[in-house]
Amino acid sequence: RKKIGIITSGGDAPGMNSAVRAVVRAAIHKGCDAFAIYEGYEGLVQGGHMMKQMKWEDVRGWLSEGGTLIGTARCAAFRERWGRLKAAKNMIVNGIDALIVCGGDGSLTGADLFRAEWPDLLKELVDTNELTPSQIEGYEHLTIVGLVGSIDNDMSSTDATIGAYSSLSRICQSVDFIDATAYSHSRAFVVEVMGRHCGWLALMAGIATGADYVFIPEQPPSATGWGDEICSVVSAHRKKGKRKTVVIVCEGAIDSDLNPISAVDVKDLLVDRLGLDTRITTLGHVQRGGSAVAFDRLISTLQGYEAVEAVLDSTPETPSPMIGIHENKLVRTPLVDAVALTKQVATAIKARDFNRAMSLRDAEFAE
Ligand code: ATP
Repeated sequence: RKKIGIITSGGDAPGMNSAVRAVVRAAIHKGCDAFAIYEGYEGLVQGGHMMKQMKWEDVRGWLSEGGTLIGTARCAAFRERWGRLKAAKNMIVNGIDALIVCGGDGSLTGADLFRAEWPDLLKELVDTNELTPSQIEGYEHLTIVGLVGSIDNDMSSTDATIGAYSSLSRICQSVDFIDATAYSHSRAFVVEVMGRHCGWLALMAGIATGADYVFIPEQPPSATGWGDEICSVVSAHRKKGKRKTVVIVCEGAIDSDLNPISAVDVKDLLVDRLGLDTRITTLGHVQRGGSAVAFDRLISTLQGYEAVEAVLDSTPETPSPMIGIHENKLVRTPLVDAVALTKQVATAIKARDFNRAMSLRDAEFAE
């Protein structure tokens, strides 16, 4: 009888609760025990009351709840070997032999490292008399499955991360509200949206709201020319009779010399050069809040179920999978490959090698 732990880790994302609900209920349905691990990896490191067996009714109503009801945290201890050693001991003491981790690229990198280190961790626990050889019997193979929960949509090997479309909807709704006042007063608004290294939210929101201009880290404008360019675009739109201006700035926006471009930079420009009455709206944590949109409820439920099936399919030979979605179908990718590819894309973007970043993204689902 498998004992499956479910963790939500990293930044919270709408849909994490429905993922936990799906994992708990699929596990019970398939004759396994399900454990909620509270506060991300902190719960694994601390053990005890931070790990709770879940019953079917414990997750009642979780489909529509925002955030994550089992908590999440940035856990420094899990980045250290001693923290992962404690985590391994707590898992074995509580009889948990499989983990489903719902989090962003950092959380899944940690999960992948934990899986790779597992045999060494067990050996060390026995060598230091923390556990007896008989206690580790049956735990030689750790099954880990990744679910990608992140509003940024920055993980490779999935078309959409759990939470990204909820966040996008919230941004669009907020821009619609801003649009009304911008139109009434003939104002310009500079809207800052989340995304430290990934401009997906900004770009999609720009298209979905018909913004005048979008700044994303993947396509930095010329350090010396971006001011002229945005002014000429905005004044052309104004000349066509547009009464409002909306510019979306991703929080990680940079220019071609890698200098940050902030909402204040853009506002100053629109005021000084075009004389527009310009306001800044930083959407901040509103983008994370609220309940998940239907798409996120759907993919988190399907992927949670799939994750439990992946645990049951797992053998010592099969690599730990990450569950994603591609062209509307659930896909399993080796976690190690998805993590490596995500890092390669991030490195290419940092090096401003956008052609490489694009070709890596195109190769995600290549045979
Ligand atoms: P988001 O996309 O919302 O930022 P994330 O999962 O990428 O989510 P991180 O803060 O990067 O968020 O990671 C969450 C936690 O995962 C960390 O606090 C840490 O406990 C663990 N973690 C991240 N990277 C590693 C790593 N390289 N080794 C071990 N653990 C890690």
